[in-house]
Amino acid sequence: MAESSIVTRFAPSPTGHLHKGHAYSALSAFAFARSHRGRFLLRIEDIDPGRCRAGNTEQIYEDLTWLGLEWEKPVRIQSEHRSGYSRVARDLHHRKLLYPCFCSRNDILREAERAGYAPHGSEGPVYPGTCRKLSEDERAARIATGENHSLRLDLSRALEEVGTGLTWNDARHGIQPARPDLLGDAILVRKDIGTSYHLSVVIDDALQGITDIVRGVDLFDSTHLHRVLQALLDFPAPTYHHHPLLTDSGGNRLAKRDRAITLKSLRESGLSAANLRLELGFPLDLEALRTMTEIP
Ligand code: GLU
Repeated sequence: MAESSIVTRFAPSPTGHLHKGHAYSALSAFAFARSHRGRFLLRIEDIDPGRCRAGNTEQIYEDLTWLGLEWEKPVRIQSEHRSGYSRVARDLHHRKLLYPCFCSRNDILREAERAGYAPHGSEGPVYPGTCRKLSEDERAARIATGENHSLRLDLSRALEEVGTGLTWNDARHGIQPARPDLLGDAILVRKDIGTSYHLSVVIDDALQGITDIVRGVDLFDSTHLHRVLQALLDFPAPTYHHHPLLTDSGGNRLAKRDRAITLKSLRESGLSAANLRLELGFPLDLEALRTMTEIP
């Protein structure tokens, strides 16, 4: 059968070692591509040098190879594309869709508390809009003194451009009306790294022609914002497949810091990749992925 146009990806951040939850996510994306005769890509999301280690990237390649996955080369390494993210940020800034924000995390918490402003998104309190109200002169003066700032999306301006009727499709959860208000005026350019997860992931998914994004449900709320960015940047809207997160026997989400359940330690303790695949609901035989009709 000819190759289809389906393209999926697994996009880990090398901030630690992969665990079973990552294995499940990567296998799901890989199986979805294989069962549709599509393509599977790997992307390393290492834009945050303070948290990412090159050694972890090497470990990711080793773990995924052990798991039986194959991906197209070259792998896209986000830290090698900073100028591309800056270019897009500059474009959004020129369109007056971003504004400088000088607030620290504490400023935001204090302001949110003072205003009795309770809405909490998945990334902490929704920004109360303090710096959105600054005049152009004040912004310029503060920037001129070298004051550090991030750049936030001006969500209401963005919605004036793209409208409030956006939707996105989640193959597991149905059509979703976009609710970017859950994240509010999100930071698109962090003061420390010159880009952000949200900006880079949306650009790369479009650039790499990803048609189907398979990832954990912890990123579900972020997708509302990603949909707005896609509309602003004239990018196509992929189909999402947000899967449940694996938990430990106590019902807690698996975490990278919990070293006992990393793929490396499971492998070293003698677990075979075939048994792990089976445990996660995938076939022992990788060839059988091609005939899977439903991804676990
Ligand atoms: N790099 C992100 C993470 O490791 C995942 C990004 C995505 O799948 O959209 O959590």
